[in-house]
Amino acid sequence: MTTWDAVVIGAGPNGLVAANHLIDAGWSVLLLEAQPEVGGAVRSAEDVHPGFVHDTFSAFYPLAHASPTIRSFHLEDHGLTWRHAPGVLGHPLPDGEWALLHRDRHITAAHMDSQHPGDGEAWLDLCRDWDHIGEHLIGALLSPFPPVRSGLSVLSHLRGVGGLDFVKTLLTPAAELGRTRFGGVSPRILIAGNAGHADIPLDAPGSGLMGMLMSMLGQTVGFPVPEGGAGALTRALARRFEARGGEIRCSTEVVGIEVSHRRASGVRTADGKLLTISRAVVADVVAPKLYGGLVAAADLPARTTQALRSFQLDPGTVKVDWALDSPVPWAGTPDFAPGTFHVADSVEDMTEALGQVSARAIPAHPFMLAGQMTTTDPTRSPAGTESMWAYTHVPQQAVRDAGEGGIRGTWDGDDCERFADRMQERIEKLAPGFTSRILTRRVLGPRELEARDANLVGGAINGGTSQLHQELFFRPIPGLGRAETPIRGLYLGSASAHPGGGVHGAPGMNAARAALAHHRVRRLLPGQR
Ligand SMILES: Cc1cc2nc3c(=O)[nH]c(=O)nc-3n(C[C@H](O)[C@H](O)[C@H](O)COP(=O)(O)OP(=O)(O)OC[C@H]3O[C@@H](n4cnc5c(N)ncnc54)[C@H](O)[C@@H]3O)c2cc1C
Repeated sequence: MTTWDAVVIGAGPNGLVAANHLIDAGWSVLLLEAQPEVGGAVRSAEDVHPGFVHDTFSAFYPLAHASPTIRSFHLEDHGLTWRHAPGVLGHPLPDGEWALLHRDRHITAAHMDSQHPGDGEAWLDLCRDWDHIGEHLIGALLSPFPPVRSGLSVLSHLRGVGGLDFVKTLLTPAAELGRTRFGGVSPRILIAGNAGHADIPLDAPGSGLMGMLMSMLGQTVGFPVPEGGAGALTRALARRFEARGGEIRCSTEVVGIEVSHRRASGVRTADGKLLTISRAVVADVVAPKLYGGLVAAADLPARTTQALRSFQLDPGTVKVDWALDSPVPWAGTPDFAPGTFHVADSVEDMTEALGQVSARAIPAHPFMLAGQMTTTDPTRSPAGTESMWAYTHVPQQAVRDAGEGGIRGTWDGDDCERFADRMQERIEKLAPGFTSRILTRRVLGPRELEARDANLVGGAINGGTSQLHQELFFRPIPGLGRAETPIRGLYLGSASAHPGGGVHGAPGMNAARAALAHHRVRRLLPGQR
């Protein structure tokens, strides 16, 4: 029987990053994936309409593009090509105007200035602050907690951006941050919409940091997409891993982790096999499923099982994909076509929609993230058509419908279709005639998302809430803020670990590094288990 140095459970971006780092260190690594293909929530297929590629889950990757880890793999040598839309991000406003972000900061600033004189210079000021500190901040956010070296580097650069005033800016809620620095609606609504990519309420601390991070990433690296579909990114990671001798087995679900003497010794798969390991198991698995099933309760300290009871998922998601026979008929044509756009009438409308989700109500006017993929990457569908998507969040357990449709929140086919109608109406208002251009529509509710990726529990896309009480050393549970778990040789390498969701590979890299570091220590201390 083969014994592997390491088994990685789950071939999402984090599992693939961990597997690549371990194989680079010379370990023998087996990657097991439950689904028929690799990629986790970074996959695409021609399964909505013939000739159209749709991303099944995530779509644009500023964090991957900025991630030192993913950059270090040189995925361009393994078939990855990044594509950019003419405009990074847009927000169509009810009067036909647009809030727009262009990769050239001076074009963004000129557009903002034309709408509200002075906002252009204020935007450039923000960019200059980011130039000074952004890279260090990203380094600190993506490092294991506590980020000692990168934290010091942030501190040493703080003075150049105003010291504590800048810290206060980062802690200011997104809804307020825009108001303090800008007079017009565009920068405010772009920052707030970007904050809405996480589930932090727009009036809570943490949302401003998220809004600023995503806005400045948009401004510096853009919101790139892989040519040919999201899956091209994870396939490149898989190709790199296999080229270095790694083995991937798809359609292989892990159903249990073997523990002996409080150390992980192997994994059991659904087809009854036991695979043994000598060094590490890295689990790209959502925390409640790792600690609530894969590891037997008897193998866990009582405090872990107890703490997990208060683990909070992020909200559920409903995603709609459309194949359109022509481009979106926007009421007002944007100066440059954005790849990604947000839908909300105003910052207040957005705050209300997200507030309804927090209050466990199905939003009456859902705040949506959406993408025009053919605009961004012409290979996605025939010339003159558009491959498009939008998603929005819904409560994990809804207590009422804040809208008029009587949607129950059971998320059966009927709920999903009626809620998709509600989402579609929002776009129809901004682009009259949108509905008449639809060739095919596909709706993925919370159940469909989880069926395609077991980590998306109830449609939660980030492996647990991103709110402050479950971040840093509280992620996934208090005291387990690093990749290490209570079982020696078992590492949590999914978005449930710090620093959480998004495709940046940090949880996977942190887990792989922890495994390598512990192995080095074990080798120095013979007799250690
Ligand atoms: C609809 C949606 C839109 C998103 N949009 C974006 C976006 O545009 N940009 C962005 O940066 N992020 C986005 N995200 C978030 C991002 O995709 C996730 O944070 C990221 O994929 C997490 O990576 P992961 O490797 O931790 O987990 P996942 O990508 O979920 O992968 C986990 C993998 O593990 C496998 N697995 C789980 N349990 C087992 C088991 N027991 N045995 C074997 N295999 C198992 C799963 O099948 C899956 O393949 C989005 C997510 C969703 C769902």
